[in-house]
Amino acid sequence: MDKRTFFGGMAMQCPNCQSKNLGRIGPGQYYCWDCFIELTVEGEMLQLHQVEEDGTLSSLDDLFPESERKLL
Ligand SMILES: [Zn+2]
Repeated sequence: MDKRTFFGGMAMQCPNCQSKNLGRIGPGQYYCWDCFIELTVEGEMLQLHQVEEDGTLSSLDDLFPESERKLL
């Protein structure tokens, strides 16, 4: 087994940097260790948040069209 994170049998990939180096941080929540964004699974969609230096989250959803955030 490698360290890839699977969702529904599919390898999850970071929509921002295409990395598969994702860590699970909670139910439906993942963290990209390469570009430091948080990914939340919301139904069939991913919600992307950037963790700011002060710990607050800012949404990156506007930067990605739905087609790039939809889980296959
Ligand atoms: Zn990433």
